[in-house]
Amino acid sequence: MWNKNDIKFFRTVLLEWFDTNKRDFPWRKEGVSNYELIFSEILLQRTKAETVAKYYDTFFKKFPNWEKLILATDKELEKIFRPLGLHTQRVGRIRKIIEEYKLKNGILPRNKDELQESSFASLYISNAYELFVIKNKAALLDVNMSRVLSRFFYPKDYKDVRNDKLIQELAHNVINVKACKEINWAILDFAALVCKAQKPKCSECKLSSKCCFFELTNKIEDLSEEPQLNINYDSEIPMNPEKPFKVVSLFSGCGGMDLGFEGDFIVHKDSVNERLNPDFVIERLDNDFVRLKPTNFQTVFANDILHEARNAWVNYFKKRNYSSEVYHVDSIVDLVKMHKDGYKVFPDIVDIVTGGFPCQDFSIAGKRNGFNSHKDHAGKIIRDEIPSLETRGQLYMWMKEVVELTKPKIFIAENVKGLVNLSNVKEIIQRDFLGVPLLGRALRYKSSLVPRCGLSTSIPNAIAA
Ligand code: SF4
Repeated sequence: MWNKNDIKFFRTVLLEWFDTNKRDFPWRKEGVSNYELIFSEILLQRTKAETVAKYYDTFFKKFPNWEKLILATDKELEKIFRPLGLHTQRVGRIRKIIEEYKLKNGILPRNKDELQESSFASLYISNAYELFVIKNKAALLDVNMSRVLSRFFYPKDYKDVRNDKLIQELAHNVINVKACKEINWAILDFAALVCKAQKPKCSECKLSSKCCFFELTNKIEDLSEEPQLNINYDSEIPMNPEKPFKVVSLFSGCGGMDLGFEGDFIVHKDSVNERLNPDFVIERLDNDFVRLKPTNFQTVFANDILHEARNAWVNYFKKRNYSSEVYHVDSIVDLVKMHKDGYKVFPDIVDIVTGGFPCQDFSIAGKRNGFNSHKDHAGKIIRDEIPSLETRGQLYMWMKEVVELTKPKIFIAENVKGLVNLSNVKEIIQRDFLGVPLLGRALRYKSSLVPRCGLSTSIPNAIAA
């Protein structure tokens, strides 16, 4: 499956590449203490190294040593971890490490046996601890290292690197050299900069001559393209002067909420509160149906991850002369990241942001996992048990990002009523949205807003606006 020569070639090329392309992080500097190494690993869990690097000083200035950290309250720790996400999990892990430290009177595991008996083994930092603190040869095997190794040596979908003996054995063979620390870092940096999860840069890769994945696909041009969105709001999305208020719709599905905003559709007369909104109905039809008046709102952006939803949306809205370019089949996480990377994803002028962020994790009809969803932002099942900001139950945070990026006058977040009575979920979401400067104190939650507005729904919903 792999041979010594391939492993040697792989190491040599990557170490040469690393010499000129290595990323510079504070935890990689000479003289970093064991304390910093251990807690850097906690910060790095499921978080980009660049993000942790920016945050590094904040944490280590506040808690520069064991003594200060031991005195920290959960509230203080949660507060400092909140910007990084996963704060509950990180606090739990830090508490376990502190317990271990106190139990052993400050003596940390000194060899592999002690490490395996310690609680560190269950915290997914044992490989890093073994490599950096005990100074054994160990592989920092994670999904990124697994991706590079499997692509080069043996293309295969490794679902869980912690339980896959094949990838563990391969990783051990590759890192089993004197420059063990450097080859580990080289692979991780190469995974982040060249052999990326999406669009690996094979055309500039010095490994390509022996890479199995490259041989199988051999599509340099396609693989090397940067992600592109065919978006140019100024010219391609016609602006309707009769609808001056521009709406960005997130998690749009088939467009139910968008239609509600646009008006000019037929509903049963009982769905409209005519006493409250006597001017809503512009035409009375047979069988007790009525046509509602058009509004001043125009949907200029919509998204969802389901192609079927897009097809339904585009088919309906094209009758209203809407371009299919309005709708994007991409997750909100990918769209925000692309926008931050410099692609023009969201329009310049936005009056309103709406979004019914995914309700499956809050609804009484589902598992009610809340923030700890078992699916990710693209709807895939998560194998790793650690939820993150990119899991389905936490996607409201990305809606908040869109609000911060587009600065609308109003935003409306809609979800199922089950969100309100699921633990303290509603309070946490409200608090998170209050962090957006523009929204300030205007955030209000209403469970009865829909019928009072005269809009049509048969489902009791929770709406924050
Ligand atoms: S050729 Fe492409 S897939 Fe293979 S290691 Fe290089 S970047 Fe990764």
